[in-house]
Amino acid sequence: MNDYLVKALGYNGFVRAYAVRATQTVQEAQKRHDTWSNSSAALGRTMIGALLLGATLKGEDKLTVKIQGDGPAGAIIVDSNGNGDVKGYIKNPHISLPSNEKGKIDVRGAVGTNGLFTVIKDLGLKEPFSGQTPLVSGEIGEDFTYYLAVSEQVPSAVGLSVLVDTDDSIKTAGGFLIQIMPGADDETITAIEKRLAETPLISTLLDEGQTPEEILSGLLGDADLKILETSPVQFACDCSKDKFGAAIIALGTTEIQAMIDEDHGAEAVCSFCGNKYTYSEEDLASLKQEAMGGN
Ligand SMILES: [Zn+2]
Repeated sequence: MNDYLVKALGYNGFVRAYAVRATQTVQEAQKRHDTWSNSSAALGRTMIGALLLGATLKGEDKLTVKIQGDGPAGAIIVDSNGNGDVKGYIKNPHISLPSNEKGKIDVRGAVGTNGLFTVIKDLGLKEPFSGQTPLVSGEIGEDFTYYLAVSEQVPSAVGLSVLVDTDDSIKTAGGFLIQIMPGADDETITAIEKRLAETPLISTLLDEGQTPEEILSGLLGDADLKILETSPVQFACDCSKDKFGAAIIALGTTEIQAMIDEDHGAEAVCSFCGNKYTYSEEDLASLKQEAMGGN
């Protein structure tokens, strides 16, 4: 079953709704970063949230979500775009803590409760848009909700959920984003709140085999739910040997010569996807040549 995201409208267009199944996407991140349960859930939830925010962008536009909490997991950085691509990493991938009082993965314990939640959007304009709120929960879904309400001033409900299997693989992962548009009446809001309170965890619904469309109709009822679009989502990184080469060129000729003389080569590892790029002495000599030619 491939991962995909659904965009929909409900309540005569006063409610925008998005749901995503991202099991394979989070599984790919889990494998690439060898994350343990708490780190998998924290990184996975952030990736799902970034995919849902990314669904509000146009194709080539992109965004970064940064969560910097005071917990042992350290910073979480996730990039996504309007095409359903997502990549990300967590500073400490090896966090595995005892379950919380509800018997669930203690995401808050890994992320922390004090810190910053930042979203940077590159919309192809001169200046990127940047919004920041304090962490209010550390469970991540609530932190997205708070950010959207305070920084973007869109009343929203966000559900993010990752089910980790006993062998650390990802059983299911997914989420939803519901946004109330200006002019929605109180009845609509009350009806949605009631349904939200009754909805089980998204990972449970996915585990039962529900599709993102079914999850949305469960969340919104038949309030003339219109599915606008379904589109694939995937873990994707745009790094390359050339891109890291450009970063090496930027270090300057002295630094590159030192790599040749002292290390006889260089290696770059992409933080987002873990891909490794090696540069031989010859590669470095040609990068040095480019560094001399450039300004
Ligand atoms: Zn990469």
